[in-house]
Amino acid sequence: MGALILKGGNVMDPAVGLNAVADVLIRENRIASIGPGISELGAEVIDVTGHLVTPGLIDMHTHICWGFTDIGLVPDEICPQSGITTIVDAGSSSWPSMGSFRSQIAGPSNVRVLGFSNISSLGIPTAGTPELESLKFVNIDRTVVSVAENGDLMVGIKVRQGNHLVGSNGLDPTRLAVEAAEQLAVPVMVHVGNTPGPLSDVLDLLRPGDIITHAYHGYAHGILDDHSAVWTDVIEGHKRGVIMDVGHGAGSFKFDVAQAAFEHGFFPDVISTDIYTSNVDGPVFDLPTTMSKMLNLGMPISDVIASTTSIPARVIGRDDLGTLRPGSVADVAVFERQSGSFEFCDSHGDVRRYPQRLVCRHTVRDGHLWYSAE
Ligand SMILES: [Zn+2]
Repeated sequence: MGALILKGGNVMDPAVGLNAVADVLIRENRIASIGPGISELGAEVIDVTGHLVTPGLIDMHTHICWGFTDIGLVPDEICPQSGITTIVDAGSSSWPSMGSFRSQIAGPSNVRVLGFSNISSLGIPTAGTPELESLKFVNIDRTVVSVAENGDLMVGIKVRQGNHLVGSNGLDPTRLAVEAAEQLAVPVMVHVGNTPGPLSDVLDLLRPGDIITHAYHGYAHGILDDHSAVWTDVIEGHKRGVIMDVGHGAGSFKFDVAQAAFEHGFFPDVISTDIYTSNVDGPVFDLPTTMSKMLNLGMPISDVIASTTSIPARVIGRDDLGTLRPGSVADVAVFERQSGSFEFCDSHGDVRRYPQRLVCRHTVRDGHLWYSAE
């Protein structure tokens, strides 16, 4: 493989605090160097002047178990044009299906595939399957063994804590998920929205590094009080180290909630799509669209990039990813920041026009130019 130079872009790598106009030299499958005026004999040069050059994106909440779940998308069909080089499935699979996850999903994919193991043995066969209606579906020992044996693939435990999914089991599913995760020293990702009690009750069960996904959902027991201020308990849980993840989805992101929260400075730690079959054609579309919504709602661009690179890398225990640090695997994305009037829709049918949009121009995966627009 020859060398590749991305020339003249605005290079943003929050992991190392880099934000400067520079060239990026890729040799073999690694980031070789970053700096001004790089040249190398025989290298392919791509002019990215005026564009944003970032680490390849990590989408930390997706559903990609196509073939054995109803909701799964094919990872290599959705990643290259979005700048995603690492995609994380959020609990579609679990210990009985982990072999399929490895052999049918992760193995054949060009994108790097990782996953959270569902605490329910059922995984998520369909969006509406109540996989935790009975706690007979939870086997902590088998879950711990399978995640431990697949440590290169599995990064945490997923639990869906919605009323319609847990029946009369209250918060026991989250307790069990934390119990399994503690044995593995991995994070728990908790799906919230219409939980059996207030969000603070869920937060009380979580450890620093555990994740609330669907943070801006817009249903009962959310982050806001009656006056559209963020609950003090929620702010404290966040300060204690619980991670707030967007997890947009078909039903889990409301503009009004995010806007009110952002006005109080309550931004997400991680921006993820929760992309699956019934939202890929809207309202989610892709990760750059979800990032654009956050940008337009007032989240600074450097935070938007950190929330899709360095921070999810840290949250899933993979600090080697989500950075352009020389020596790292050459996973890189190039974005154009467009100005105009663009339409966006949330999960509750609220359509808004906003002036900014991020569009992926190039994606480099493992040193290879994987995607170029046009
Ligand atoms: Zn999901």
